[in-house]
Amino acid sequence: MNLIFLGPPGAGKGTQAKRLAARYGIPHLSTGDILRKAAADGTPLGKQAQALMDAGKLVPDEIVNGIIDEALTSPEAAKGFLLDGFPRTVPQATALDEILQRRGRKIDHVILLQVPLKVLLDRLAGRQVCPKCQTSYGRNSPPKKPGICDKDGEKLEVRPDDQPERVQQRLQEYESKTALLTGYYKARGVVRPVDGVGSVDEVEKRIEKALS
Ligand code: AMP
Repeated sequence: MNLIFLGPPGAGKGTQAKRLAARYGIPHLSTGDILRKAAADGTPLGKQAQALMDAGKLVPDEIVNGIIDEALTSPEAAKGFLLDGFPRTVPQATALDEILQRRGRKIDHVILLQVPLKVLLDRLAGRQVCPKCQTSYGRNSPPKKPGICDKDGEKLEVRPDDQPERVQQRLQEYESKTALLTGYYKARGVVRPVDGVGSVDEVEKRIEKALS
């Protein structure tokens, strides 16, 4: 099963992608998580990406294309993969096509998580993330102990790009570049629109249904 999660920031891609990847036993490849880890580790790639990420701007296509090309060579990705936050531009989608073609593979489903702007803004304003395992918590899905990750006890953080003015920038990037991908994949009949409003469990059930 080769899957893409598409949707604006705050749609719940990361949360749902983690669950789905665990259920199917396939890797969850999030370019955002990979870039944040590289930035935290202070690698040259991370240093290059950090300022753009903090400003809510997209990092150059060549960088993320390279990350995904490499990630798809891992043995864990042999039986399937779930892409979260990639592709985000039409040139990235074209690069992904080439990468997959080289390996004789294709995308089976594009899950399009649909959430109204008001709900997105509300979710992003209340979001806290574990810096270690990247689990995300919100007003409707709080941690058991305030400010502490349920999974590993780490202190939760607010992402710098979840500040209101950065959120506006990210939503603009989504509207002007990423939203075009719906049409790109629709032409192939692989887009599965899913209502992303509701509890994590409710949305998960809808995704399951959309894939069955
Ligand atoms: P995310 O965790 O998916 O919201 O991504 C956080 C940030 O990482 C984005 O705002 C971008 O700066 C960067 N990023 C992640 N994925 C991509 C991508 N496919 N193309 C360009 N920039 C990306």
